[in-house]
Amino acid sequence: MSFSALAAHAPKAALEPYSYEPEPLGEHDVEIAISHCGICHSDVHLVDGEWGDYFPLVPGHEIVGTVVAGKAFPAGTRVGVGWQCNSCGDCSYCAAGEEVLCSENQATCQGNFGGFADRIRVDERFVFAIPDGLGSAEAAPLLCGGITVYSPLQRYFRKSSRVAVIGIGGLGHLALQFARAMGYQVTAVSRSPEKEAEARKHGAHEFLTGDPVPGSFDLVLNTAHAVLDMSTWMAALSPKGIFCQLGAAGEPLEVPVFSLIVGQRVVTGSAIGHPSVIRDMLAFAAEHGVQAQVEVMPMDQANEALDRTRRNQARYRVVLAR
Ligand code: NAP
Ligand code: ZN
Repeated sequence: MSFSALAAHAPKAALEPYSYEPEPLGEHDVEIAISHCGICHSDVHLVDGEWGDYFPLVPGHEIVGTVVAGKAFPAGTRVGVGWQCNSCGDCSYCAAGEEVLCSENQATCQGNFGGFADRIRVDERFVFAIPDGLGSAEAAPLLCGGITVYSPLQRYFRKSSRVAVIGIGGLGHLALQFARAMGYQVTAVSRSPEKEAEARKHGAHEFLTGDPVPGSFDLVLNTAHAVLDMSTWMAALSPKGIFCQLGAAGEPLEVPVFSLIVGQRVVTGSAIGHPSVIRDMLAFAAEHGVQAQVEVMPMDQANEALDRTRRNQARYRVVLAR
């Protein structure tokens, strides 16, 4: 049996049809017939060679499809797979349900062949049933973009927290929805004034294109793959406020020391989410009607689709469908 996919063979090269023999179906693997795959900006970073040489590269890690083989789910179950596809299973982090922190964690499309394919085989611990209330295209971006913002929003929530979400793209528009549903006072921060009406529709109470008022936020989530002026954003935090970097900026953050010392502010980051948190996130999304605003395109237009994300044209997630 061979799986058919689209692959890039060099940095910034167009994706081309590609077929490969999958690893044999392991005892704990699930084989999935893929129906949808969202395009995350991490796919663009990978295709453009910004994270190293993983070529030939089959991108895609916001996968929804139906089970065709494996013991963990009945055939035909609608399931999803995100960025992480495996971990060692017995280190202290895995034992504690913190699989993202496992030193042997594996990525679905970095060193493995991802979701721009007709099928995939993944360890059952990293396969998630999709609740009935969620459409497949709208659910796919939850598997990476959604969990990446849900995790820190849930981890750092305090009663009446004020959050700034910087960058209203795939991650950002989901962050607005989750934050609003959790009870945050929500500000969208964007370089794109034309996104204001939709940002408010997705849950923003306020929309900011300029500099923030000092002390006005308890939590800042930076989803932009850019280094911000940290003097401004540290000043925007209340005492004990938290700045959480999510976007994969290529440069270091320069943090003024006294903004840390005086207000006990915290600078941290966060990656995706543990399997148990993904299950919670999907249930929360179904209950509160959180879903991606998607542009559905056929899988064979993956190059055009990647380009929409690369150029900040997607509103707000392109999802490839078979
Ligand atoms: P996206 O859909 O392209 O959205 C990124 C948004 O950031 C853009 O819509 C834009 O929003 C803003 N932006 C882009 N370039 C900027 C710049 N130079 N300066 C300021 N703002 C800028 O991307 P995404 O899929 O949400 O992913 C965002 C980043 O998160 C990527 O680097 C991705 O690799 C990373 N990521 C990290 C994790 C994790 O686990 N930590 C998981 C998934 C993705 P406005 O138009 O509103 O300004
Ligand atoms: Zn992603």
